[in-house]
Amino acid sequence: MKTATKMIHAGAEPDPSTGAIMTPIYQTSTFVQAAPGQHKGFEYARSQNPTRFALEEALAQIENGKHGLAFSSGVAATDAVIKLLQPGDEVICANDMYGGTYRLFTKIYEKFNIRFHYVNMQDEANISAVINANTRLIWTETPTNPLMNITDIAAVSRIAKAANAILCVDNTFASPYLQNPLDLGADIVMHSATKYLGGHSDVIQGCLVMNDQTLRDQLYFIQKSCGAVPGPMDCFLVLRGIKTLHVRMQRHCENGERIAHWLRDNPKVAKVYWPGFADHPNHAIAKKQMSGFGGMISFELVDDSTEEAFRVLSSTKLFSLAESLGGVESLINHPASMTHASIPREERIKNGLKESLIRLSVGIEDADDLIADLQHAIG
Ligand SMILES: *Cc1c(COP(=O)(O)O)cnc(C)c1O
Repeated sequence: MKTATKMIHAGAEPDPSTGAIMTPIYQTSTFVQAAPGQHKGFEYARSQNPTRFALEEALAQIENGKHGLAFSSGVAATDAVIKLLQPGDEVICANDMYGGTYRLFTKIYEKFNIRFHYVNMQDEANISAVINANTRLIWTETPTNPLMNITDIAAVSRIAKAANAILCVDNTFASPYLQNPLDLGADIVMHSATKYLGGHSDVIQGCLVMNDQTLRDQLYFIQKSCGAVPGPMDCFLVLRGIKTLHVRMQRHCENGERIAHWLRDNPKVAKVYWPGFADHPNHAIAKKQMSGFGGMISFELVDDSTEEAFRVLSSTKLFSLAESLGGVESLINHPASMTHASIPREERIKNGLKESLIRLSVGIEDADDLIADLQHAIG
């Protein structure tokens, strides 16, 4: 089945009780049994919910995986993966990932004696340098947030397999429309469904997709035992979002490309981070593993003072100043004080994240209007 058809039909069986074409929101906590243990596969909604199951099936199909699991947020999905580990296990992760992932690893899990190595994943030699007998998990994010670095998923997956470690890829920025990490050898794909999957800035949710049945069973056990499940209304919203993912992503890519080039040609802009540029350091890999370059763009101004960045951030009208990304409307963000404030300043600067960096989530409005808005703000 081709992608566009899959986005619309994945997991969408007519409701067995009524034939409703849209999966109903099963807003129920429990299910009546005819006799003890005699039920229709649904006992209690933390473990089973038909709306969630329809979504999980859709997520699996659009990521070319066998199994999907939905969680109450992206970080809850990440949290479930870390719970596969034991004290003493080691994780190798990217040094410029989402701030909340870094916070979860350092502030919550280090104290349980799980060791995290933060490396620059654009060079796989950095992974091989820290891999050892305790390495259980490699965690990567590509493109990274907010510097748009690209990890070669196939190359890292070969290293993970040789070391018998699980490779999990945070695919939030690309979305399943632009990149399918399982096809490239990853074991688990993670998404913040809050972003492109939901697509309308109206829900917090996360998910995991995998092929391996044992891994699925372990993660399902964690999902129901730890209880970070999404409610049925939220599952409905993400199911609905997925139906337009392909058309939204096409426009995000078109608008992203126009704005990235416009920014690059602007004399007040010093540097633009976008993997679609032919001279982006990892452009060849991006081109190989992604079918488009998306609508996430970061840039630095020639005047790289925080004051000038703040002036631009407060001057746009269509681009709203807000955290998050992936919605139909355009957002502008200051990573150092907003999305990445949980990463210590020295750590951020060491990884190349300047205090004056501005990040855009380019929406699906008319690109001419978006450019006029940026022109007005940048001056
Ligand atoms: C937002 C985000 C997360 C966390 O997801 P939540 O839904 O906010 O919990 C993880 N990774 C990336 C890349 C994100 O953008």
